[in-house]
Amino acid sequence: MDPRSRATRRHRSCVTGAHPRVLSPARVAWEDGVPVAPDYGDIYFSRSDGVAESTAVFLDGNDLPQRWQQTAGDFCIGELGFGTGLSFLLARASFLSAAPASARLHFVSFERHPLASGDRLRLATQLAPGHPQLAAALQDFDAQAPPWLQGWHRLTLDGGRVRLALYYGNAVCGLEDWASGGNSSAADAWFLDGFAPARNPELWTSDLFAHLPTLSRPGATLGTFSVAAAVRGALDASGFEVERVSGPAGKRQVLRGRLRPGLGRPAPPRPQQVRILGAGLAGACCAAAFAARGVSVVVADPEPPATGASGNPWAVMHPRLPLDDGPRGPLQAAADGGSRSWLTAHAPGVWQPRPVIQLPELRRPDRLRRVLERYQDSGAWLAAAAIGDGTAIRFPRAGWADLGRLVATLLANDHITLHEHRSQAPLQPGAGEIIIVAAGAESAGLLPVPAPLGRMRGQLTRTRRPMPADAATLPIVTGRGHALALADGWVCGASYIRDGAADGPSVQESEDNLARLAHIQALLGIGDGGSEVCAEFVGIRCTVPDRSPLIGPVAAVPGLWVSTGHASAGLLTCPLAAELIAAAACGEPPVVDAELRALLAPDRFATP
Ligand SMILES: Cc1cc2nc3c(=O)[nH]c(=O)nc-3n(C[C@H](O)[C@H](O)[C@H](O)COP(=O)(O)OP(=O)(O)OC[C@H]3O[C@@H](n4cnc5c(N)ncnc54)[C@H](O)[C@@H]3O)c2cc1C
Repeated sequence: MDPRSRATRRHRSCVTGAHPRVLSPARVAWEDGVPVAPDYGDIYFSRSDGVAESTAVFLDGNDLPQRWQQTAGDFCIGELGFGTGLSFLLARASFLSAAPASARLHFVSFERHPLASGDRLRLATQLAPGHPQLAAALQDFDAQAPPWLQGWHRLTLDGGRVRLALYYGNAVCGLEDWASGGNSSAADAWFLDGFAPARNPELWTSDLFAHLPTLSRPGATLGTFSVAAAVRGALDASGFEVERVSGPAGKRQVLRGRLRPGLGRPAPPRPQQVRILGAGLAGACCAAAFAARGVSVVVADPEPPATGASGNPWAVMHPRLPLDDGPRGPLQAAADGGSRSWLTAHAPGVWQPRPVIQLPELRRPDRLRRVLERYQDSGAWLAAAAIGDGTAIRFPRAGWADLGRLVATLLANDHITLHEHRSQAPLQPGAGEIIIVAAGAESAGLLPVPAPLGRMRGQLTRTRRPMPADAATLPIVTGRGHALALADGWVCGASYIRDGAADGPSVQESEDNLARLAHIQALLGIGDGGSEVCAEFVGIRCTVPDRSPLIGPVAAVPGLWVSTGHASAGLLTCPLAAELIAAAACGEPPVVDAELRALLAPDRFATP
C-alpha cells in the first residue's frame, strides 16, 4: 500500500470529537485553589506545592539544570500529559537560565483535553503571589495557546531557543506519528506527567511505553511521580532501568529511570549546506529557519529579494477555515499559531498584530455561519462578531506585515549569502547539501515531478485620506475583498485575474478595489471622506488546483525540498513551511502529522 494512504488510514482512527478533529477541553473543578479533573478524579498537581514537586520530579529527576550547562546543540524533552503546561514553563525557564545561548530546547508534549483559557488564567492568578514570573509566563502562553484541533501545534519561543511541539489528541496516536516521521528525532529526557495510573491508565500502558525507547536518544532519562509496581514493571520491560528515590515534601518516593545501553536512536547528521532557489517570502523563511540552526545558506534568485508577490507591503494573515472534515482545518490551525510565533521570534517588530473580521461572502451568505458552528468551540482563536449583515467571525490574534520588509529582515543574517542567479533543472543536491525550490510559479519548471501551478494576478490599492485617531487599531475586514486601515488612509483589494501578467496597475482593478472599500466602509459606518489613490501593488500569486501549498521533500530526489503554491496566504503558510522543512531536515520533532505531510506533499500530483 502507498505509504501516504497508510498514514491517512492510520490517522483516521485517531480522529475523534463531536465535530471531527475538534477536541473537548478539560473539565476543571477548583478545590482549595488547586485545579482538579473530576473526569479523572485527580489533581493537576500537588496540593502542598505543585511548583516544588514538578521541579523535583521532572527537572531534578532528569538532572536537567546540570545537563543543560553542557548542552551545546539541541536538547529534547518528551512529556506525556501537558496538563496546565506548568512543567513545560518550569523547564523552559530553567533551560534559558542554565543552558548556553547556542543551545536549543525542543519540548514535545501530548494532551487529549486542553485547558480552557479561563482555567489557565485562574491558575495564573493563584500562582502570582508566590511565583510571579511563572504566572506571567502562563498568561503569555495563554495568549498563544493553540486551538483545540487534533494534531501537532508548534510554538517558536524565546527567539527560537525554545520550541514547543504540542500534540492534541490521543498520546499513542501522537507517539506513533512522531515515530513515523522518519527523521530520527528523539527525546533526551522524559516527563511522565499524566494523571495517576489508577485514574488514567491509558498514559501508563506497556503499549505506550514500548514507543519510548525508539523515540529516545541513547542514555535518555525519565522522571515521574508514580512508583506503582505496574508502572515500574512496564518501564523496565520497555528498556528503562528505574529506581525509586526519596521525593519532595509530601511525597515519600518518586521514580527515576535511564535507558539501557544499546537502546535509543542516535542524532542524525544535519545538512552542511542549504541552497534555496527564490528570494521571496517562501525562500527567505526557509533561509532564516536554517540560519537560526547554524546552517549556512545560499539564496539564488535572478532578481533582488521580494521582487515578486513578496513585494506586497500590506499582507494580512488570518486562518481560512474550510467546512469539510478533511485535514485543511487542522492545517490552518497549525499554521495560525505556528507561523505567528515563528514571525515574532525571527522578525520581531515586523509582524503587526491586528484583529481580522471575516464577513460572509455575498455569493454564499450561509457558509460562514456553518464555519463558525463547526469551530466556535475550539478555543480562543476565533469568536462570533457583530458586524455587517450576517454572521461574521473575529480572529483576535490575526495581523499583517510588509512582506518586503519581512524578507529583508529574515535575509539579514551572517549565515545567509545572496547569489544573483537563475537556477535551472535538473537539480541534484551534493553530499550534505539540500536544495529548496521556492521560486513561486516558476518552481514547476525546476521540479522533476509534475506540479500544476497556476498564476493569479492581483492588485491592491492604497488610498490617502484623513483617518480617525484610532485607525491603526481598527480591525482588518476581509471576506468581500479586504480593507486595512492605516494612520493616513486605507489599503483595499484585491483583484483576482487568472493568468494575468504583472505588467503594472490597471484602472479597472483599482476602481473595483475602491468599490470594495466603499462597501466595507459603509458596513463599518465610516464615510468615504474623499479618498485619493496614492499607490498600487501588483503581483502574481502562485496557485495550486487542490488549494494546498506544496511543502516537503520530493521523494524521488533525496535532499530536494519544495515550498511554493502559497497563493494568497503566504504570510500564514511560508513560516510553517520553513519550520517544517528545517525541522525535518535537522532531525527535530514533527511540525505537522503524517496526514498533513501527505496533504502538502510536493509530489502528490505524480501518477503512481
Ligand atoms: C495582490 C496580492 C495580494 C496578496 N495579499 C496577501 C495577503 O493579504 N496575505 C498573504 O498571506 N498573502 C498575500 N498575497 C500572497 C503572497 O504575496 C504570496 O503568497 C507570497 O509572497 C509568496 O511568496 P513566494 O516566495 O512563494 O513567491 P514570490 O514572492 O513570487 O517569490 C518567488 C521568487 O522566485 C524567483 N525565481 C523565479 N524563478 C527562479 C529561478 N529559476 N531560480 C531562482 N529564483 C527564481 C523569483 O524571482 C521570485 O523572487 C498576495 C499576493 C498578491 C499578488
